[in-house]
Amino acid sequence: MPDTAEVARNLEKIRGAVARAAERSGRGAQEVAVMAVTKNFPLEQVQAACAAGLRLFGENRVQEAEAKYVPRGGLPPLALHLIGHLQRNKARKAAELFEAVQSIDKIQTAQALEAACVTAGRTLEVLLEMNTSGEPTKFGFESEEALLAAVEPILGLPHLRLRGLMTVGPLAGDRDEVRGAFRRLARLFERLRAVYPEQALDTLSMGMSGDFETAVEEGSTLVRLGTALFGARGNP
Ligand SMILES: *Cc1c(COP(=O)(O)O)cnc(C)c1O
Repeated sequence: MPDTAEVARNLEKIRGAVARAAERSGRGAQEVAVMAVTKNFPLEQVQAACAAGLRLFGENRVQEAEAKYVPRGGLPPLALHLIGHLQRNKARKAAELFEAVQSIDKIQTAQALEAACVTAGRTLEVLLEMNTSGEPTKFGFESEEALLAAVEPILGLPHLRLRGLMTVGPLAGDRDEVRGAFRRLARLFERLRAVYPEQALDTLSMGMSGDFETAVEEGSTLVRLGTALFGARGNP
């Protein structure tokens, strides 16, 4: 049973931890957005997070997002991001459902989403996902070169706005490995910003419940939190 007060308490703790980590990186708490990741959590948890003041939400699967967030009646205006792998045959639904797709890992996926956006009459924000852990089960571009090579073609897609990068840190790794992965992505992000100063590249999405403080210390501007906010997740 979702407990609105508990979600609010958890969020307060998270905000405190984010603020301290941001300070350690020479930034302010307002430079880090907190996303509620609601995969495997029911609509009631979305409502509890809204009541606590959150307006940024993430889902991994198109179908689950559709079932939970459509219709959005009863919810305040919010931004919903896809943070899981997008299959090309789901691009059409994704273009209708989400404000942003954080998990672009192929030029072809971006092209499919562009075509779907034309049909839906929408413009979506996108992030490029990097596989920073090298774990073969993870999605994302496999190398910095591959990611950089995709930037130019994706910038040419008029219905997609590239905003930055995303990664899932190594889940099995120790602190140093996790920090190293975040640091590499932050460097790649800075490099990208230097090459394309005219683009609004302002989003570095990294950090989950187990590693968000490290991610913020390394420059994250958006942390994606499920269990830290809602408690243990049920089965899909
Ligand atoms: C599930 C998930 C999260 C949130 O995970 P928690 O450990 O519950 O905070 C964040 N990002 C992605 C891509 C996820 O799949």
